[in-house]
Formats: sequence, C-alpha cells, structure tokens
Amino acid sequence: MTTPASAIETLRPDVNRHDFLAPERPNTAPTDGHSVVFAQMPGGEDGPVLREQCERVSLELLRLDYFEFVAHAARYWAFNTHASGISVALFVGPSSPSLELGGRLLSNPKVSMNYVSLGRTRILVPQLAFGALPLQRVPAPEAIKLLRRAFDAGIRFFDTARAYSDSEEKLGLALHDVRDQIVIATKTMATDAAGARGDLETSLSKLQTKYIDIIQLHNPAQVPDPNDEQSAYAALSAARSEGLVRFVGITNHRRQVAYDAVASGLFDTLQFPLSHISSADDLSLVEHCQNHEVGFIAMKALCGGLLTNVTAAFAFFRTLPSVVPIWGIQRESELAEFLALDRQSLVFSREIERAIEKDRQELATSFCRGCGYCLPCPAEIPIPMAARMSFLLRRAPHQQFLTPTWQQNMQRIGDCTECRDCASRCPYGLDTPGLLKSMLVDYDQFLGEHVGCGLTCVP
Ligand code: SF4
Ligand code: SF4
Repeated sequence: MTTPASAIETLRPDVNRHDFLAPERPNTAPTDGHSVVFAQMPGGEDGPVLREQCERVSLELLRLDYFEFVAHAARYWAFNTHASGISVALFVGPSSPSLELGGRLLSNPKVSMNYVSLGRTRILVPQLAFGALPLQRVPAPEAIKLLRRAFDAGIRFFDTARAYSDSEEKLGLALHDVRDQIVIATKTMATDAAGARGDLETSLSKLQTKYIDIIQLHNPAQVPDPNDEQSAYAALSAARSEGLVRFVGITNHRRQVAYDAVASGLFDTLQFPLSHISSADDLSLVEHCQNHEVGFIAMKALCGGLLTNVTAAFAFFRTLPSVVPIWGIQRESELAEFLALDRQSLVFSREIERAIEKDRQELATSFCRGCGYCLPCPAEIPIPMAARMSFLLRRAPHQQFLTPTWQQNMQRIGDCTECRDCASRCPYGLDTPGLLKSMLVDYDQFLGEHVGCGLTCVP
C-alpha cells in the first residue's frame, strides 16, 4: 500500500521525478498565485506527516480543500490515485513559469494536454508521445529542430530504439540539456545478456544520458525465462538495480506473447500495435494491462500510414485513458496537426463513429500493417509497402508509387517462389504471397488507368 511518506518519496528529485510534471492548463490551473500544490484526499490521518515531508522537499501543502481538489482532479488527468486513498497532484500554476523542486528546475510546458499514468510505473505523460522511428529519414539539423519544437510544445515522452539507426543519436543531440524533464523509452533486440548490456551502453551514450526511463525488449519471439541468468531480460533487470534504467518493458506484435508477458509480472510496460481498427481481441489487452498494472504504450496508431483520419484516431484514444499512443513524427506539419488535435476537446461524435466504422469495414481484415517482420524475402520484394499498395495508392499522393523504381519493385512480385517464409513470420497470420498477387493485379490496373491520364498524373 502506498503511504503518504512513500508518496512523498516519489517526489524526491532522485526518484520518479518526472512522474509529476504537469503543464499549465488555462482556465483550470489554480489561480491562487502558488506555483505548486500538493493535495491530500480527505480521510488521510497523516496531515502533519505530509506537511513535514512536504516542507523537507520545499513543497507547499494542501492549498485546496476536498471539493476543490476533487473538482480539479476531475478536470485534470494529471493526478495519481493510490490504493491508500492518497492522491497526489502537482500543479504548475500560471504565476510562475518554472519552479525549483529539490534544486531542480522544471519548465512549465505551454500547452494543454491529456495525461496518462503508465501502470505501476506511475510515470505521468501526455497522451501524445513522440515516436522517433521516422527520424531516421530526416537529416540531423531538421530532426533536432523538430524534436525541440515538440519539447517546447509540451511533448514529454519520446520513444526510440537501438534498431532505428541514428534516431537515438538525434534525440540525444536535441534534448540532452532537458533530460530531466522528459521520459525516454528505447529498445534492444538482443536476446542474450551480453548483447543487451552492450545495446544499453550504446543507447546511454547515443542518448547522452545516465539512465533510460523505460528499456524495452524489442519484439522477442517469446516471454523470457526469468531464471535464465544469460538472458537479455536478466541484463536489463541488473541494469535496473544499478540505476541505469528505471523500468523494464516489452514490445510485441504477437497478441499471445503480449498477453503472456503482461501476466508474467516481469514487465512494467507493454508496447503493442493498437488503432481504431484493432480487433476486440487486441483491444482486450488494454484491460489485461490495467488488471496487472502494466502501462500500455500503443504503436502503429495509424497502421503505418494506412489510416488517414487522424481526428478519428485521436478521438479513439481519448476513449482509452490508460493508453499512451506514440505517433511517428517526421515533419513539422505532422507535429502541428497532432498538437492541434491534442488541444481540442474531441468527442466521440456520431461522425467519428461512422468514420471509424468505415475504416474497420474497409481495412480491418486481411490488411498488412507494414511491420516488416516477414522480411527478408528471397525475391527481394519490399513486402511491407507492396502488400499495402492498393491502400497507399488511394490514401496517399499516388504519384510517388508510380515511378519506374516502384513499377520495378511491384513487378518483383512475379518472381515470388511461394516459399511462404513471409507468411510463416507474419504475426497477423496473413496469406502474404496471395495478398501480394492481388496487390499486383490492382497496381497494374491502377497504373494503366493513370498513365492514360497523362503527364499531370504520372511523374
Ligand atoms: S513467399 Fe514469395 S513473397 Fe513470401 S518470402 Fe517467399 S518469395 Fe518472398
Ligand atoms: S505481411 Fe505481415 S509481417 Fe509482413 S509487413 Fe505485412 S503485416 Fe507485417
């Protein structure tokens, strides 16, 4: 059970210091001129203890009475409710753009955001996290500018991976000086202890940090054996004891592995593909995580670009307040769109419901998520793109897929040997070779129709 004293512990600058960052919220932030409020739910017997503990870490205490607190808590998502009935809220008020907490300066983000508490980690982050995979495709100066804009706008959770080439390095370059104000998650694909330790040390160096908030096993084929001292999991657990990582998570594309990992009690967070066209079985993982106090990080919220109704995607995640989606961001226009949506009080309207239903009907069955786990293909078919081509042609500017290079890529489907290696590796059980063939038929037809349109259509 969380006691008031242990709740206060979490505010110490060396423990969970990021968990209580909360942005200014116009019209809802306390306006009494105090920059910090630490409020105790009624019924707690430990007012003096709390007061003393708060004084020790220079926090003001109990600025709000019960009804005010409940009213604020209901309007804020930025609060943690503990089993003991103690709730902790740290509000950064409008009177001070920054504050000293235990000698540490916390900036006051400028935007209003919904906050999610990540399971048992109690990490509290906006429901708008930055997925840094696409940064691999962006030159360093642009990537740094983009990350800095995201930070300035209030984004605090950045997800990357050792496998995303120079993504970690760009994150380190952009945000090393604000390290204590952000939450960093990265991943290792290593399967043994030595490999995981090596990856972790490289990640720490590239990210220019002394610790990783959440280190994740990157899509392992099965849940690790906790008794295997040579496993990657064992190395990450040891690193946690050393203070090099705060929490250990897992990412996976296989529902059963994800289920088992959550139930195993080994992991603090799960990262899993989730979107508004996910199946009921996939969605049930959300409750499964809640039952085990495991934080849920959603990847592929737009199915790798297949889903284009970003408003519907955002509104969908508002219905899942325990889930933090990471949005892959490559351009400033995308960042601006996500931030604008985040500021809106999106409601799950009939219109959005209809849009989601339409996407589900069109896309939910037999579609390729673009995850790439089916690769390599001996015929060198770029499966993650080729198996989605019908949708890409119609949901993105199609000219980019009608170039001579892409025509060549698609014709490779004719070289498929039916080895079915791809199908055996696809975590969604797709008949990949069959899907590719139907994509080629559609592609040839589409190409024929658009060549006929003339030069304005085909580049
Ligand atoms: S079945 Fe065809 S597409 Fe799949 S891996 Fe084999 S050659 Fe490639
Ligand atoms: S065919 Fe399956 S494994 Fe390959 S990219 Fe598509 S969803 Fe992923």
